[in-house]
Amino acid sequence: MLRFLIPVFLAVGAACFASPAMAQSDGGSRWAIVVHGGAGVIERGAMTPEREAEYRGAMAAALARGEAVLDSDGSALDAIEAVIHGLEDDPMFNSGRGAVFTAAGRNELDASIMDGATLNAGAVAGVTQVRHPISLARAVMDNSRHVMLQGEGAETFAREQGLEIVPAAWFFTERRWAAMERSLGAMGLAIPPRPDGVPAPAEVDHGELERDAREHRFGTVGVVALDRAGNIAAGTSTGGTTAKRWGRVGDSPIIGAGTYANNASCGVSATGTGEYFIRLTVASRICALVELQGLSLQAAADQVIQDELTAMEGDGGIVALTPGGEIAWSFNTPGMYRARQNEGGDAVVAIYGDED
Ligand code: ASP
Repeated sequence: MLRFLIPVFLAVGAACFASPAMAQSDGGSRWAIVVHGGAGVIERGAMTPEREAEYRGAMAAALARGEAVLDSDGSALDAIEAVIHGLEDDPMFNSGRGAVFTAAGRNELDASIMDGATLNAGAVAGVTQVRHPISLARAVMDNSRHVMLQGEGAETFAREQGLEIVPAAWFFTERRWAAMERSLGAMGLAIPPRPDGVPAPAEVDHGELERDAREHRFGTVGVVALDRAGNIAAGTSTGGTTAKRWGRVGDSPIIGAGTYANNASCGVSATGTGEYFIRLTVASRICALVELQGLSLQAAADQVIQDELTAMEGDGGIVALTPGGEIAWSFNTPGMYRARQNEGGDAVVAIYGDED
């Protein structure tokens, strides 16, 4: 699939899509937030108007959840959790409920969070029964001596922390199951049994499935927020990639690759094919360019995404934010679900590359 898509990405490269930097001149005491809901071949005309409206509504609602926290002097970390909770519960996105399936027919969830004020961080990989993996990542950061937990141990810690545990069937969606079957079919691999407790096979909308495959919708979610105390935090949550095998873990739970926050430079959340983001350490690299080379946030994001990631034939994008309230996004796919808002400013929601 990726091999097939790379030429498409490159073909649209000329029109790939850096948004102009959105600087805020009056310092870091005003809140700001930027959210993504995954990047991919999301093209105008390939999506039904209803579906497009649903995605725009979900992104606007995500911003509103963040605004509610930040506007009442809440912390950037709390805003991240509030925004991502809603997206993890929304089956349209590849995080929590609606996550993609592994080749073994499981949902294995990854998440991470980082506090730019302290450089504390928490991450989890391969969890299967925690309703809100982002909160588990936060608990790892706040209540353990570790930064990253995985698999069974992470689930045990979640129970000890009193986090909400759900049956694996909670995460099941027919659409993601069908997408996994389709990927396995293309790879010549056997289809695993349906998980216990899920409804009998339902009729899938094959038109919708076709569009999914075409759009290569990843659907990972991520947020970077700046609170009124001037602190930045970033968080990311995902089901990973469809039909992933052998306990594969992507960039999303890896601090410095999929998520990074540092009050000295910026915060970043990434989405895309994790194997490339890990090798480029995308998130921390953008912040290092800002901090050490003095690049503007947009220039740093574009250098890493438009130049370096693209040269590696990796695909995806990032959202980012500085302590001064400057927001940037950059992606080398035709679209990325995204939204941003500065305190006192309008909410902006966009999907396609030719939007703001
Ligand atoms: N970055 C995620 C991963 O590789 C997937 C995504 O963002 O779509 O697991």
